[in-house]
Amino acid sequence: MDVNSKTAVVTGGAGGIGRALAEELIRHGARVLIADIAPTVGQVAEEIGAASWQGDVAAADGVTELLAAAEAAHGPVDLYFANAGIVGPTGIGEDEDEWDRVFDINVRAHIRAAKALVPGWQARGEGYFVSTSSAAGLLTQIGQAGYSTTKHAAVGFAEWLNITYGDDGIRVSCLCPMGVNTPLLTGGERAADAADRTANKAVTSAGRVLEPAEVAEVVLAAVESETFLILPHPEVLDMYRMKGSDYDRWLRGMRRYRRTLAGGSAS
Ligand code: NAD
Repeated sequence: MDVNSKTAVVTGGAGGIGRALAEELIRHGARVLIADIAPTVGQVAEEIGAASWQGDVAAADGVTELLAAAEAAHGPVDLYFANAGIVGPTGIGEDEDEWDRVFDINVRAHIRAAKALVPGWQARGEGYFVSTSSAAGLLTQIGQAGYSTTKHAAVGFAEWLNITYGDDGIRVSCLCPMGVNTPLLTGGERAADAADRTANKAVTSAGRVLEPAEVAEVVLAAVESETFLILPHPEVLDMYRMKGSDYDRWLRGMRRYRRTLAGGSAS
């Protein structure tokens, strides 16, 4: 899809990958609204020339409100970037509330947005949903139970949307990067929780940490060519193929990698 003159919403747009996506969309001629829970969202919007909405994109009425705000600012939404995300519980022992929250933001928010947008897109014969998942949604992130689980769910939902509504003119892509230089990743470096530090090391040792602007460029190219799987780290495809070709071997390799990261023996 050519995004020029189109209306786009980017959730989690106050910083990190979301802000870079919004800036890249604006450079390509789109009219953008950024939505974020962070109070800085209005200020960022002013800096980059976007409209803004502040609130929780995972709340049921949050999605309705932010779509109404986008429509009031720029007209009906053509592209929706479901990008806001959190890390969530590191293991299975954490509070149920933590699990609810990570499912709400990383998965339910995508479902709620699609539910609100798809009927209008079907009627217009056009619309584009871009889900920010993660390489953790294809490969599992060591040290992050909630993140790995919900990012797999986000890939699953994006696939389902693509298959179900592709014939109605609705396009869906799914972004699955490894490390990107944002607070979400760098917060793990000095985290108090050892599992968070291991998770950070698992990502930063696996490949180059990209800048958000590099990722945004790759995403815009994929939207232009309407490619489903967006891999700013091309090596993720090799890892994913290896997993698919011999799942048990891949699991053994991941367990070995986990032991190495934890400072134990690889054998
Ligand atoms: P970030 O923490 O810099 O940005 C996330 C933004 O989402 C923040 O501005 C935050 O305020 C906002 N947000 C969180 N919960 C929200 C909510 N309920 N409602 C509205 N806004 C909310 O992190 P980022 O790295 O830019 O993350 C963006 C997306 O990229 C996430 O989905 C993340 O999982 C994914 N991702 C990041 C990396 C990485 O290494 N940084 C790798 C793969 C995938």
